[in-house]
Amino acid sequence: MELSLDSPVQYLPKVGPTMASRLNVIGIDTVYDLLTYIPFRYNDYSLVSPIARVQPGETVTVTGVLRSISTFVTKNGKRMQTAKVQDESGTIDVIWFNQPYLVKTLHVGDTLRLSGNVNWFGKAIVFQAPEYEILASAADGEQSLHTGRLVPVYSVTDGLSPKWLRGRIDFALKSYLPLVEERLPESIIAKEHLMGIRDAISAIHFPDSDLDAARAKERLAFDELFFLILRSYERKRLWETEYTAPKLPLTPADRDAFTASLPFTLTPDQQTAIGDIIGDIARSVPMNRLLEGDVGSGKTVVAAAAMFAAVKNGTHAILMAPTQILAEQHAATLRMILETKHGIPVHLIIGGTKQGASLPHHTTPQVFVGTHALLTSDLVPTDHIGCVAIDEQQRFGVKQRATLRDNLRGTHVPHQLLMTATPIPRTIAQTVFGNLDISVLHTLPSGRLPVKTWVVPKIKRQRAYEWIRKELKGTDAQAFIVCPLIEESESLSTVKAASAEYERLKKTVFSDLSVALLHGRMKQQEKTDILAKFRDHTYQILVSTPVVEVGIDIPDATIMLIEAAERFGLSQLHQLRGRVGRSDKPSYCLLFTETETPEVLPRLKSLETTHNGPDLAEIDFALRGPGDLFGTRQHGLPALTVARLTDTAMVARAKAAVRDITAGDPELVRFPHLRQRVKRDTIDEA
Ligand code: ADP
Ligand code: MG
Repeated sequence: MELSLDSPVQYLPKVGPTMASRLNVIGIDTVYDLLTYIPFRYNDYSLVSPIARVQPGETVTVTGVLRSISTFVTKNGKRMQTAKVQDESGTIDVIWFNQPYLVKTLHVGDTLRLSGNVNWFGKAIVFQAPEYEILASAADGEQSLHTGRLVPVYSVTDGLSPKWLRGRIDFALKSYLPLVEERLPESIIAKEHLMGIRDAISAIHFPDSDLDAARAKERLAFDELFFLILRSYERKRLWETEYTAPKLPLTPADRDAFTASLPFTLTPDQQTAIGDIIGDIARSVPMNRLLEGDVGSGKTVVAAAAMFAAVKNGTHAILMAPTQILAEQHAATLRMILETKHGIPVHLIIGGTKQGASLPHHTTPQVFVGTHALLTSDLVPTDHIGCVAIDEQQRFGVKQRATLRDNLRGTHVPHQLLMTATPIPRTIAQTVFGNLDISVLHTLPSGRLPVKTWVVPKIKRQRAYEWIRKELKGTDAQAFIVCPLIEESESLSTVKAASAEYERLKKTVFSDLSVALLHGRMKQQEKTDILAKFRDHTYQILVSTPVVEVGIDIPDATIMLIEAAERFGLSQLHQLRGRVGRSDKPSYCLLFTETETPEVLPRLKSLETTHNGPDLAEIDFALRGPGDLFGTRQHGLPALTVARLTDTAMVARAKAAVRDITAGDPELVRFPHLRQRVKRDTIDEA
């Protein structure tokens, strides 16, 4: 069968359904995926030596004839395969551990090429578990895959051998690489001195040298960043040229009336952000702005200003939050700010909200707050919407975001405000979210004290519990206890761990205090009830799983205890810490850790001295790299395979290239290939 690059990998010779399903596990679905499955390192087997000259401690390749091979059982019952291989200079012993099939695969008289480590074994110099290849003859000039060269090492899964995978990749390269078309303009390739795409894909697997591998990697990294940035550019261009939004000007008098009606004074950052937004939405170019700020930095009131402007201009406004509890919290805040003070109706739309029952009069502008239930509710108008705010947008699926877009997008679109508490280093945000304008709330509202933070090692655990007891007993202070992060989603094992910890604390450590449990698998009503009871002090301690309801606002909670803190990124810890310190009372964060790993303590201790989300994100970035930084699900960052967002030099090159080719040719008329590719990639993204 003629395959294309998009054909399922299953149809390649020697793959089939079973192996294909294993390839799927590591993300390889198509022939193209296989071609671009990047090795994480290379074994350098390029040093070739006569057998007589090999030295213990060397990594070498030899070629010789197999003289003997057999299985040998050691004193402690382990099975070893021992062999002798000879060339013109001499003979060497070879051993493998527990690979009985070798006795059948390799035959005395075969010419073998062996690559691996040579070491002392007792008094003999032996090859230990080398990679092997059977050659047609010693003079065979055939290119080898597994020996005698830089050999790619891939991450694999159960039932997938590295050697087999290497063979299939080699086959795919030989048969299908010519189908890969160059996608970068000649001018960029020349200017940046890049490898062609086919050479790069070939060399990333089987490089001739370290330099060759580095050049291949450079080309692929450049590609990845270039297309990431070009897609952002295209999204921004489309947003700005193809769509229009209603102009929502806010008079200075109305802005003052809004500010004056608030029960507090806006922070300077809030004022700046509101100014940015009011400037944006007064124009017919739709706003597409990201509002970044720690938990508690007061993003809701900033969004409320935009909603206020929308309603003042006779349009509706929508705010969508990822969970019911957050939606309820937002609704309460917006009612206080918009309904009570300005008579603007605020509707809460959540899972159970009745459809069609009491349709509000859509002729008067109003505010709709809710969960993704907003997307399907017939209570929510589909036109005359001036502004849509999405809280923690990265927690919604692409599909949900697309639904919102499709529901609302005619020729006219609403202005869009995205809010996030996930601190992303600014440079990275600008690269990844190049299509967005960004406003940042750096400081918390004044009157908030920084949360005093301690790292608590194992030996201080009991004392810490005693201290918590003293703080809570007979006072109205409250504590959160967050259980270890076991898996990134709210899995059954996470829930079990939290339940067990809850039982233990309730029965032993804090048997004299009132303790409750909250986890994501509880029914919504149950969660709401527990939080309500926690808020009204029925409970003093709330034990919870890590991912549950990040943004909840309980002003009297002043203690946050986090178990197995080393399993979290600094940014995640900082977000959890942000659940306390929401009033003017002093509050505390205790980071429990029992790990002995030396790097962990200094990393955690940076939370004792640093209290600002973006700074912690930078530290985390430097220490752990972007992969671990935000957790893989919740960060909303693209998964890059070759490039690093921290590679500022490469990011700058890719940005410059995008600037070059779009300057004077925003629609890429000169580069139809590029245009097609970017169009295709941009379709699903809002
Ligand atoms: P975020 O969504 O950024 O985590 P919220 O918008 O929920 O934060 O605000 C957290 C709390 O701070 C709310 O109770 C809000 O009313 C209050 N708040 C917001 N801005 C200010 C301010 N400038 N001064 C005092 N309190 C504020
Ligand atoms: Mg919030």
